[in-house]
Amino acid sequence: MNRQKSFENEKPTLYLVPTPIGNLNEMTPRAIEVLQSVDVIACEDTRTSGQLLKHFHIEKRLISYQNFNEDTSTKGIINLLSQGKNIALISDAGYPLLSDPGQRVVNEASALGYNVVPLSGCNAALNALVASGLIVQPYLFIGFLPSSQSDAVKKLREYKNYPMTLIFYEAPHRIEKMLQSVLDVMGDRRCCLARELTKLHEEFLRGKVSEILEVASELKGEMVVVVEGNRDDYEKDVDYGQLLHMVNESIEQGMTTSDAIKETAKKTGVSKNIIYDLVHNKERKENIC
Ligand code: SAM
Repeated sequence: MNRQKSFENEKPTLYLVPTPIGNLNEMTPRAIEVLQSVDVIACEDTRTSGQLLKHFHIEKRLISYQNFNEDTSTKGIINLLSQGKNIALISDAGYPLLSDPGQRVVNEASALGYNVVPLSGCNAALNALVASGLIVQPYLFIGFLPSSQSDAVKKLREYKNYPMTLIFYEAPHRIEKMLQSVLDVMGDRRCCLARELTKLHEEFLRGKVSEILEVASELKGEMVVVVEGNRDDYEKDVDYGQLLHMVNESIEQGMTTSDAIKETAKKTGVSKNIIYDLVHNKERKENIC
């Protein structure tokens, strides 16, 4: 076991620092303070991060940490930690690691017993999720689908039966294809496309996948797609005792069991299959009664 009391030791620290996904006012005072205090900042594109840091008057040594050089830059960062240096890892925007580089250095630094300390902050997926109007818990963050169309479809098939809300990242030039694949594989589910989050042209398109697909070719900028999970077998937040009570009451009033189930489904919005299962599944019924 590896137990880290972040602020009760003298060990060198790797800070995970989120940066704004558009609106620079979302840079937190703590993020600025940490970036000013560390010895080195590891980032994706030194030019992109250089501009951000300049805006906040932060002058630090920058080193590049990207997917293609993750091996060597992880070694470099571990080496700096071993010399007692504190490092901040940032990405071009949002949280490092989430659809961005950083996984390897976090694994290695934590396994070697260095502090790995996250800061709270910006993340496009969570912004989109909480404003999507879809059920937010549980959710599954998927990020980008594979770039090959057949691999993307394979992945979608894998997620098709998941009941949790699904969050995807997508680039504007691929959005039509992506939504079409979601429609083909998962059906016409409720969906929210959130684009240009925190920026001047922020927009949310909430509706069925097919409706958003109709206007997808016009959409520009950075985007997140939030898709409703598979609701077929999802039992919602159901009060089973109350459901049974409603069915029994209707039967007592002279309805057939089948009609009582239909009536209860109509009144509550719970699927007929779930109520049927409840009424006819002896074991579960006994547990409720
Ligand atoms: N690490 C980042 C995070 O925490 O959100 C994500 C980086 S990933 C390389 C970039 C993708 O995130 C974009 O293609 C887009 O799907 C999404 N994204 C980033 N900023 C966004 C924004 N302002 N509005 C909508 N989506 C955004």
